[in-house]
Amino acid sequence: MSDREINVVIVGISIAGMTVAKAVAALSKQGYPNLRVTAIDKNEYYYHAIGAPRAVVDKEFSKKLLIPLKTLLRSSELDPEDPKHQFIQASVVSVTKNSVVLSDGQTIAFDYLVLSTGARNKVPAHYQGPTVADAQRHMSLINDNVQRAKDILIVGGGPVGVEIAGEIAFAFKDKNVTLVHSAERLLPLNFKPGLSNGAVDKLERLGVKVVLNERIGIPSDTKFDCSIRPLTLSGSSGAKYSSDLQILTTGITYESDYLRDLETALNVSLRHSNGSIKVKPTLQLDCDSMSNVFVPGDVNSLPAGAKYAVKAKEQAVSVASNLALMIKQGFDIDQKNAPDLSEYTGGEMNMILVPIGKELGVFQALGIAFGKSFVGNFMSSKMKAKDYFVSKFAAEFES
Ligand SMILES: Cc1cc2nc3c(=O)[nH]c(=O)nc-3n(C[C@H](O)[C@H](O)[C@H](O)COP(=O)(O)OP(=O)(O)OC[C@H]3O[C@@H](n4cnc5c(N)ncnc54)[C@H](O)[C@@H]3O)c2cc1C
Repeated sequence: MSDREINVVIVGISIAGMTVAKAVAALSKQGYPNLRVTAIDKNEYYYHAIGAPRAVVDKEFSKKLLIPLKTLLRSSELDPEDPKHQFIQASVVSVTKNSVVLSDGQTIAFDYLVLSTGARNKVPAHYQGPTVADAQRHMSLINDNVQRAKDILIVGGGPVGVEIAGEIAFAFKDKNVTLVHSAERLLPLNFKPGLSNGAVDKLERLGVKVVLNERIGIPSDTKFDCSIRPLTLSGSSGAKYSSDLQILTTGITYESDYLRDLETALNVSLRHSNGSIKVKPTLQLDCDSMSNVFVPGDVNSLPAGAKYAVKAKEQAVSVASNLALMIKQGFDIDQKNAPDLSEYTGGEMNMILVPIGKELGVFQALGIAFGKSFVGNFMSSKMKAKDYFVSKFAAEFES
């Protein structure tokens, strides 16, 4: 039992942030009544990105992807009349040695800080707006555009591009959908070639034209926001691709600009040139004078094969258990009694399930790829294609 005030601030409340927030808040009921968790997100909702491919074609479904956060930590309160934990909807714009600064200028002090701000995809895997109503308006606009378009070009054949191509081709049989990918096969290259062969076969069955080994030139002065406009783009082979709606699924932007002031103050580089935040094997920020800062999830510098919800969650569980050790040992008071923390050893994702519309899909687990076989279709339609796990995640956020 400890009566001292301990402030844990968590920035970015998605899969990683929610997992840490709930685990740490639960400690307040285990002998730490003055433990306060402040969860901060720039949006008032959790956005279930995993379901974005279906949301592109289904307006009703898209509404389910936005789960309000205001009651996130309610069940962890010791006394609901005297709440210790709070959710604040605001962007963090700066971090100092002991506080975070919000976009409205407010400062929130921390004993421990968790940065789980993730990485932003491009529209339509990312929606804009801090309120549920804003994001729904944006989703609705994209739905309308996809519905109106005749010739759709999708650039990038990773899981997101393959799933979006499959959903559009399955939902709208009258559209011409072309998927262009720069590598020799679809999907991440650490998976078996048979997975890609199966994905090509199943996309083609739905009428998608798949082009491999072709790099599309993306003009830097053109905005790609899923609006309807006729555009012809050139491929590295010299081929021309004309479409009236273009979807880019290439590249991510790490959400870490708020570290700039701290980097200047400490005169160190806390991020790689791509914006990912450098971490130690314990997932602490790679900065010895700030061992009370942890960075789970997509925003950290672990390899691309770790940028999955499943991995973000595993990392968050590891961070929560290290935080609990530090809190129990009173590390925040004197910065000396550092406990032995566990290293995160989860490695890269070695399992994948990719729906291609509602009935087809490819799957790999235990080194066995189910590409052209019916097993991929069965696993996908039974496990993922129904609702892209949205009900499972909604239950976790709302419990
Ligand atoms: C279309 C799509 C399909 C996917 N499918 C799968 C799948 O099938 N299986 C799988 O395992 N993974 C999948 N993923 C990957 C998975 O969604 C991510 O790995 C996961 O969301 C990462 O979680 P995170 O908590 O690290 O960060 P994110 O989910 O990126 O969330 C970061 C949070 O931080 C907030 N934030 C950012 N900056 C600030 C700031 N300055 N101030 C305050 N808040 C901020 C954001 O609003 C957001 O809520 C998919 C991703 C996409 C885009």
